[in-house]
Amino acid sequence: RWAYVNGRFVRHGDAAVHIEDRGYQLADGVYEVWAVFGGKLADADGHFERLERSLSELRIVQPMGRKALELVLREAIRRNRVRDGLVYLQVTRGVARRDHAFPDPQPVPAVVITAKSVDRKASEAKAAKGVGVITLPENRWGRCDIKTVGLLPNALAKQAAKERGCAEAWFVDPEGLVTEGASSNAWIVDAEGVLRTRDTSANILRGVTRKSVITLLGEQNIRFEERAFTPDEAKGAREAFITGAGSLVLPVVSVDGEKIGSGTPGPVATRLRALYIEAASA
Ligand code: PLP
Repeated sequence: RWAYVNGRFVRHGDAAVHIEDRGYQLADGVYEVWAVFGGKLADADGHFERLERSLSELRIVQPMGRKALELVLREAIRRNRVRDGLVYLQVTRGVARRDHAFPDPQPVPAVVITAKSVDRKASEAKAAKGVGVITLPENRWGRCDIKTVGLLPNALAKQAAKERGCAEAWFVDPEGLVTEGASSNAWIVDAEGVLRTRDTSANILRGVTRKSVITLLGEQNIRFEERAFTPDEAKGAREAFITGAGSLVLPVVSVDGEKIGSGTPGPVATRLRALYIEAASA
């Protein structure tokens, strides 16, 4: 396997960054993940746009133009022989003597890219069964709209989910409303048959998959509202699912151990998954 580190491809096992990289010391960096279908980046532009926004919100220098970056991502896919998989890109503010405030002058941002294959057969089998989620109090910072590498609350939530046999954890804000998952956006088809996901504020990541699914809904004439829901509404919903570059559209069949609907993937989530994959593979 190959990784891209600061301007060149190196053997994955030899890839390394400096110990005073601000990403390592301060989580001062951002990332993006693209799904890869048939060797091609899914939702390429949506992820580039969000990357540029995350960087500018943190005043990190854009490491290179979109065209150049896309070439490197494609090279990572090619070198790692990925047909179906994921590409990971991380940009940190760079290397400087440890100090909380930004280094002056700004260092060169550090760029790391990796690509890996995923077993689509196994993910389809998982989707056909559906997954469970747990709910946890929201304990992340106030700028979840920036895709930073500061993922400790997300990692702890995911581990708690795993220990309870679940695939995802949904954060619940102080008003009792679900914000999003540790690595996905959260959706339900409510008791009235309306598809719902939370509106985009600083409290959630503006999921690129979420946006593409919303576009699909328009084409499919499915009733949809950007309106947050409570865990109880989710438990009483007809269906639930999550979206993300890793999960695509993944049916949720239980919340905190309570079955959603019949406890099997619902028709809307199942159809949206197929439509999303079809659109992303085109
Ligand atoms: N929310 C969080 C916290 C995430 O980490 C992710 C990433 O996958 C998502 C939502 C979904 O975003 P996207 O669809 O752009 O992958």
